[in-house]
Amino acid sequence: MRKIIQLLIIAMFMGSAWQCQPNAPGKVTKIIEESSAQDSDHHTQTSQYTGHPVNVILMVGDGMGLSQISAGWIAKNGTLQLERCQAIGLSKTTSSDNLITDSAAGATAFSTGKKTFNGSIGMDKDSVPVPTILELAEANNRATGLVSMCSITHATPASFIAHQPSRTMDEDIANDFLNTDIDVFIGGGKTFFENRTDGRNLLDDLKNNGYSVKTGIRSIAKTKSGKLAGFLADMHPPKISEGRKQMLTLASITAIGLLSQNKNGFFLMIEGSQIDWAGHANDSEYLVQEMVDFDDAIGKVLDFAEKDKNTLVIITADHETGGYSVTGGDLDSGTVTGSFSTGYHTPVMVPVFAYGPGAEKFTGIYHNNIIFNKMKAAMKLDQVTL
Ligand code: MG
Ligand code: ZN
Repeated sequence: MRKIIQLLIIAMFMGSAWQCQPNAPGKVTKIIEESSAQDSDHHTQTSQYTGHPVNVILMVGDGMGLSQISAGWIAKNGTLQLERCQAIGLSKTTSSDNLITDSAAGATAFSTGKKTFNGSIGMDKDSVPVPTILELAEANNRATGLVSMCSITHATPASFIAHQPSRTMDEDIANDFLNTDIDVFIGGGKTFFENRTDGRNLLDDLKNNGYSVKTGIRSIAKTKSGKLAGFLADMHPPKISEGRKQMLTLASITAIGLLSQNKNGFFLMIEGSQIDWAGHANDSEYLVQEMVDFDDAIGKVLDFAEKDKNTLVIITADHETGGYSVTGGDLDSGTVTGSFSTGYHTPVMVPVFAYGPGAEKFTGIYHNNIIFNKMKAAMKLDQVTL
């Protein structure tokens, strides 16, 4: 018995020693995180909430680094909805084959817990399909949803539902939506379901599988029950400057309204997609508008979580885009001056914000794929195989 206690003390000491090493490899971090995730049932921080498994809403601001957030903060005259979050951490965004991740590997890290090569959708670094958090949630009788301001087959949403070696395989990715029991998806990309090289019309298949297939945000927002396939555009929804208005907020509220009808809880991923595109375009005004829009949606999601008390909201980015820096501006007028150092992504760490039951588990510095472990533990999901 004494020997076991000694071993335990040594193990605990080694555990904390590893955690303090600045250059501890991701693998070790992962093992520590997985074991702490297993212990999560015994923690008392969540005792103010019900014992019911929590809903998880993951909000991804594609390309949203700290400068993008700061630009939004200035544009909104000094206050962001994001500031309501209770915990903040930092995510290391490297992919398995590159210091600088793309959005496919970045999202696959969140969705599967596996670092993978750039371009990979829902597959590990050896091109083996890995069950996603959305698929785990489905298998555990939760409702699931995806909301995106680009094509729903684009890298970020695709990584939660599809398994393909390349993000460019939009038609195959669209087909993968039919292999799941996702309850709600809202985004662009209707053309990949409708006008396909194989001649199939997946919209018919979706209808046969019980989905209301809706086009346009007005019609989508009127959906009050059942499964929804909502298309905002043939390809991508417009920029804010081109008239997208409150599409992201409305789509998010609609998805939450439908998913929260499931008594067993839900998983929802919401993407602010075009912060990244503004970074690629080195367009500071575009960036600010997309960042403000994303923060508006964050506000509505947090309003739901605040009322619900059983929803964990995680807000983060897959990577930073543009090497953006805020060089000036004015808090009163909300003007922002920014400059860019690259037309691609950068490897800088990105912030992770959390709100709700278990938010405190998101403090610290960790690799992006650890976010999967934390979400899976929060939802108390059992592992499944594909
Ligand atoms: Mg994206
Ligand atoms: Zn990008």
